[in-house]
Order: sequence, then structure tokens, then C-alpha cells
Amino acid sequence: MTRARTYLDWNATAPLCDAARAAMIRALDLVGNPSSVHAEGRAARAVIEDAREQVAALVGARPADVVFTSGATEANATVFAAGWDTIYLCEAEHDSVLAPAKGSQARRIIELPIERDGRAVVDAIAADVLCGSDHIGRGLITLQLANNETGVLQPVADVAAFAREHGLLVHTDAVQAPGRIAVDIEALGVDYLSISAHKLGGPKGVGALVLRDGAPLPALLMGGGQERRRRAGTENIAGIAGFGAAAVVALQNLRGIDAQRARRDRLEAAMLSLYPELTVIGAESPRLANTSCIAFSGKAAETFVIKYDLAGVSLSAGSACSSGKVGTSHVLRAMGIPPDVARSAIRISLGPTTTDDDIAAFLAASATILRSAAKAA
Ligand code: PMP
Repeated sequence: MTRARTYLDWNATAPLCDAARAAMIRALDLVGNPSSVHAEGRAARAVIEDAREQVAALVGARPADVVFTSGATEANATVFAAGWDTIYLCEAEHDSVLAPAKGSQARRIIELPIERDGRAVVDAIAADVLCGSDHIGRGLITLQLANNETGVLQPVADVAAFAREHGLLVHTDAVQAPGRIAVDIEALGVDYLSISAHKLGGPKGVGALVLRDGAPLPALLMGGGQERRRRAGTENIAGIAGFGAAAVVALQNLRGIDAQRARRDRLEAAMLSLYPELTVIGAESPRLANTSCIAFSGKAAETFVIKYDLAGVSLSAGSACSSGKVGTSHVLRAMGIPPDVARSAIRISLGPTTTDDDIAAFLAASATILRSAAKAA
């Protein structure tokens, strides 16, 4: 019997979990518009409000502070459209942060350098702020919680503590974090937090912007009064129901995170013995337990991704969103990784249902692929 495929691309998207599928199927048959006052409308509203509580619990927020969106891309875009004068950011952010931030009306964009280990040089914020605050105006710091390509974690809580003392607001793109590290908006102290259902076992095309203490949020999409006037449009009820169910499962999955870490570490150790020149990117930094970004120096990652695919293993070269683009990952470039190393980087990302057999299948494929690459060299 042939083995099913080995899916090791959870940072691109996670398979739909059973609870999310069941919740979505139930919600699909709801007739009502959640804004309607009749029984059908109230039934649909109840599904949304239950999901709001579930998503709020995932990130330690108040349900009233959860604004459902079409995904993290929209959540991020909403934040940057809110009229900032100065935005602090680093190049390791996802394109859905970089593009709307740089395209916003902000007069000043202050770029934080990235160390070779993937951590942002956050002292650059203090350097700017301590020059005097007149030039800052309405200031926003955006700093991702965990990087999608390397898994490297950023010191978001420290930055938020500094920001509070200096009247700056803070946004974090937390898309890669829930279910992998504990996420608590109060403990982080950020004002805005973006998450996405499909990275944690929910459906694609739904996410949330979570606020702390009712941080100001002009609507990006205007029209109806949905989401407390913060996001117009009839709600994606099935998607939101699936998101809520997946949020409950993601919280439970945190308990199994050490097993994912052990598998990831075993995978990296085995790869290092197969290919001693291997670079494990971000290994010196605190990073997500499910993510491994490894580089083979001088070999083209795209070719490797195709070879793994043919061998039944799904993984990514750089981020899924940037695959298909020519050139190296902007994240690895920002880290100062030499271009020949960056070009050869692949990302393996595990999830709660990843098994030892998946790791064994990856390692078997790697042995064959590296042997044929060595012969070809
Ligand atoms: N931020 C990060 C870090 C991501 O990995 C992604 C998805 N690739 C996004 C934002 C965008 O999320 P969505 O797909 O929900 O728009």
C-alpha cells in the first residue's frame, strides 16, 4: 500500500480540523441574516457570538474586542489605514504588513534593523523616540509575534511596555502563534493583534483583528453596522463558526507542543548528520517549536521543493505567499543571510497531527534527494 502524502507546510496553512468542519456544516444551514431580529436572525447571531467568545479566549481578550475579518491580511490593512503619522516596522514582517504600512499616509516609516539571528533591533525605536516626540505624532509600532518563515519570536511584550510609557500604540501580527505559544493580549500589552483561522485548523478566508481596551479602530469597510461599526458586511457565518471551533482546539493543542518540538529537533539533528554543512536559520533565537528553516548552501530551494513534492512531501521554499516570485526571501535577506544560503532555504513546518512517520518519510526523501544532488554536483 502506498503511504499518504506527508504534509509539512502548516505555516502556509493547516488542514481543517474535525471540530471546525462540523461547526461549519451546521452553520451552513442557518437561514438568517445575523442582523435580523427574527428567530432565524437570532440563531445566526448566536453562532457568531459563541465563536467570538471562543476566539477571544484563544488570545485572552474580551469578546467585545474581537472584530471578525476576511483574514489577517484584512486585519493588518485595517490597522495601517487608521491614520498614523509614524510607523515603526522591520523588514521581517509579512507582506500583508509591509505593503499597507508603506503605502499608508504615514509621514515617517522607521525601519528597525534585523540581527542575523532574526530578532529585530528594537532599540532603534527608543533611539528615535528619545530624540524628542514632536516629530512622531500618532505613532504605531508593528512587530510580529512569530515569523512565518523562520519561526523566530520577537520581544513584543517588552516593546509594548516601552510604547505605553511613550504614548505609542502597538500592533502585532500574531498569525503564526496561536496553538504554538500561549498568546494573551493583556500580557503582551499590545493594542491590536491580527490572527487568521486557517493557520490554526480553521477555514481559509476568515480572521480577526483583536483590540485591547477598545483601542481606536476606524472601519476599513464601511456600510452596515456589523461588528460594532468596525467592519461592515454580512458576516461569514460558517467561516466564523469554523474559526471559533478551531480556536478551542488550538488552545488544547498547546499541550502537545513539546512533542512537536521534539520531532522538529530530531528532524534537524538528522538533517545535520545527512548534510553537515546545513544551516539551521534562527536556531540561536527563541522560535516556534513547529518550524524549521534549513539551508543547503548553493542548491536551489525551488528544485528541492519539487523533488520533495514528487517524493510525496509538501513543504515550502521561503513563505508560501512569496513562492513563485523570483529572488530570495525578503526575511532572510533582511537577516543578512548570504544570498547563496538564502536561495537554498526550505521551510518545514509541523502541526498537531504530524507523526513520527511523517518525520521518517521526510528524512527518507531527504536522503535520496541529497544523494542525487551530490551525484549531479
Ligand atoms: N501574517 C503572517 C505572518 C502570515 O503567515 C500570513 C499568511 N501567510 C498572513 C499574515 C496573512 O493571513 P491571511 O492568509 O489570513 O490573509
